[in-house]
Amino acid sequence: MIFPELKGNENLKKSLNELEAHNRIPHAVIIDGGNEDTRNLLANHLAMRAVCSGDGEKPCGVCRNCVLAKARSHSDIHFSKGEGKTEIYKKNEIQWIIRDASIKPNISKCKVYILSECDRRFPVISQNVFLKTLEEPMQDVLFIMTCKTSKSLLETIRSRAVTFTLESELSVNGEYLEIAREIALGIVSRSEMDLLKATYKLDERTKALGVLDLLVLLLRDGLAVYLNSKAELDSEIAEQLCKKLTKKNYIELIEITECAQLEITQNVGLKLVATKLCAEYRRALWQR
Ligand SMILES: [Zn+2]
Repeated sequence: MIFPELKGNENLKKSLNELEAHNRIPHAVIIDGGNEDTRNLLANHLAMRAVCSGDGEKPCGVCRNCVLAKARSHSDIHFSKGEGKTEIYKKNEIQWIIRDASIKPNISKCKVYILSECDRRFPVISQNVFLKTLEEPMQDVLFIMTCKTSKSLLETIRSRAVTFTLESELSVNGEYLEIAREIALGIVSRSEMDLLKATYKLDERTKALGVLDLLVLLLRDGLAVYLNSKAELDSEIAEQLCKKLTKKNYIELIEITECAQLEITQNVGLKLVATKLCAEYRRALWQR
C-alpha cells in the first residue's frame, strides 16, 4: 500500500496492508477517530483502491480510474451530499443508493458509496433502511461510512462492517511537553522551588504559549481521569495530579493557565507572567 499522505497510524496501516495483501477489504467499512481530514483521506484512498485498474500494488495512482478518483470525478464513486442545510441522509437518498448499487459499475470494476460524518448526518430511520443492504452484501460494491465515533451508528450496522480507527491527531512538541509536565508536577509539589524552576523555563513567547497549551491539556487529562474517563495526552501525569487535586482545583488551575496565556498574547512581560502564574497556582492549592 502506497499511502504516505496518512501520517502515523502505523498499526492501522499494517492491518490495512494485511487485508489488501489477501484481497480481503470488506464490502462495508466504517472509518472513525482521527479528524475529518484524515477520515476523508482514508475514505478516498480506499475508494481509489477499489476502482484502480493498474497492475500490482493498488491504488497505482496513475491509471485512468485513479486519476479520475483523485480529481473526485469518478462516475463510480458517489459522495453522498445529504439534504438541505443540515445535509442529513434522508430515507430517499439511502433508497436511491441501494437501487443504484445494484446497477453495474460504469467504467471500473467496483462502485463506491461514501457517507461522511455519519454522527450528525445519518439518522436511525435511514440507518435502518441501509441495514438491509449490508445484510445481503452486493458484489463489486464498497460502502464507506466516516464518523467521529462508530458508536454513533447502530450496533447492527457496526457488526456488518469493519471499523478502521484512526489515531487522534495531537502533534506535540517534545520539549514543550517536558516543561508542561514539570510545571504540572511543580503545581502539586510541596516545594515552591520545583514550580518556580519549571515556570522560569517560559522564557520565550511562542514557547510559553505552546507549553501552556499542553499544560491545559494535562490538567484536562487529570480532570478526565478524576471523572473516571480517559487521559488523551499523558495518563501518568494525570494519575499523579489526581492524588492531590479536586474537581474545583482543576477548574481553577485551568482558568489561571488560560489567563496567563491571554496576558502573554497581550505582551505582558514573560518574567512577570511566570512569577504571577507561580503565585496563583500556589494560592489556588495551598492557601485556604
Ligand atoms: Zn490505479
